[in-house]
Amino acid sequence: MPPVVINLSYLVASVLFIMGLKGMSHPRTAVRGNTLGATGMLIAIVVTLLDRSIISYEVIFAGLVLGSAIGAVMAIRVQMTAMPQMVALLNGFGGGASVLVAGAALVEVGVAGGGYQTQMTVATSLSALIGGVTFFGSLVAFGKLQDLITGNAVVFPGQHLLNALVALGAVGLAVGVVLRPESMEIYWALVAVAAVLGVLATIGIGGADMPVVISLLNSYSGLAASATGFVLQNNMLIIAGSLVGASGIILTQIMCKAMNRSLANVLFGGLGAVATTSAKADDVYAGKVKSASPDEIAILLDSARRVVFVPGYGMAVSQAQHAVRSLAQLLESKGAEVIFAVHPVAGRMPGHMNVLLAEADVPYEALLEMDVVNPMFPQTDVAIVIGANDVVNPVARTDPKSPIAGMPILDVDKARTVVVIKRSLSPGFAGIPNPLFAAENTLMYFSDGQKAVNDLIAAVKEAS
Ligand code: NDP
Repeated sequence: MPPVVINLSYLVASVLFIMGLKGMSHPRTAVRGNTLGATGMLIAIVVTLLDRSIISYEVIFAGLVLGSAIGAVMAIRVQMTAMPQMVALLNGFGGGASVLVAGAALVEVGVAGGGYQTQMTVATSLSALIGGVTFFGSLVAFGKLQDLITGNAVVFPGQHLLNALVALGAVGLAVGVVLRPESMEIYWALVAVAAVLGVLATIGIGGADMPVVISLLNSYSGLAASATGFVLQNNMLIIAGSLVGASGIILTQIMCKAMNRSLANVLFGGLGAVATTSAKADDVYAGKVKSASPDEIAILLDSARRVVFVPGYGMAVSQAQHAVRSLAQLLESKGAEVIFAVHPVAGRMPGHMNVLLAEADVPYEALLEMDVVNPMFPQTDVAIVIGANDVVNPVARTDPKSPIAGMPILDVDKARTVVVIKRSLSPGFAGIPNPLFAAENTLMYFSDGQKAVNDLIAAVKEAS
């Protein structure tokens, strides 16, 4: 294939990636963005395989069919709530692939009689280091979120010293690969130490920091791919990897801000996840929790002028988004202003609530971000919290030792009345009690999210 065709195809694919990323920055254009990105990737892969005469048309087609089938089954079967662990796994595979491809390139040059170039050896070494950390770190993140291993931060004395020593060892071996690229033993030793580093860096992080870690690993997988692009001298891989690396780090920063974790804290894994205290559930709740029936809540809603829905993970679990949309429409038809307040880390992945509410045809204009909606709570008659917990927990503002200390939260407690729909007083992801449930102006409505909202719809209709 003439180089000009290849480079032009790569240029088209790169433009498609960038347009895809732009599209994915808004729910309205996200599906189109995704399709553009996927088309870019298809062009990039097919052109690369043909260019290097690696495999024949038949094998490319068979690979496409097989890969698409596996991807389609995974996409259809995965629950929306299990998306973060799937993303973690896919990031991991990216890192693992970089390790293998860079290793194979090293072997190839060796077999061809040496002649290693410094750019190639440095990039190979980085591929092994970052790819190894990404693959094994992602497996741990997957295990944590899938409940295969404990979701809590695993901490032990001397952990940070050990992490630092392992990191130093990895850097030493990375230099070793550059100095003695003919030794595959050093290469695999580097991969092994990177694996240990990936595991150590991730097990020390728990609870509320997990989304940041996944997004950071996503960024790492991009950096590993980019390094592999330098190994293979493939511009496409360099560009695609850089885009993943950059967008991952931007998302990481957005999430750090949303969870009040500094990036350095995340990079050094676990520093912020240690030694947290939280009040005992009994002390927080005993004798102070008031529960209400759908009929009582319907009376409140009947006279409410502004109602704010605050969705969280429980709305996703109970698939209540359609019922919530119906209740919102019902209240609007009775003259109330209805707003949806979306916290950036509500649910289990960035944009989780936006996706669900968009699926239920809630207009984007009704979805307000935290900064916009928080000043509106004091003028809100009823805030309906459905399956959210950590993102409305006021201890983030008041207890500096809490695991979610300093995390910006939705100030629902400032509304005139707060209705919290959840099944029990169980904690959320961060595992801590929530004084909001015992507040003077809070009514608990204990039920499954979807059932609760459907019962509320019936009660509101009856009350009017
Ligand atoms: P939380 O995890 O704090 O709370 C969810 C609540 O939903 C639980 O307390 C649970 O209470 C309730 N619930 C579960 N099932 C149902 C059901 N069927 N019906 C009604 N309620 C139900 O959720 P938030 O959205 O408030 O906070 C998100 C948390 O997840 C944050 O800590 C965030 O850091 C973390 N996280 C976020 C990610 C992201 O990117 N968005 C990724 C990973 C973690 P009960 O059992 O009593 O019903």
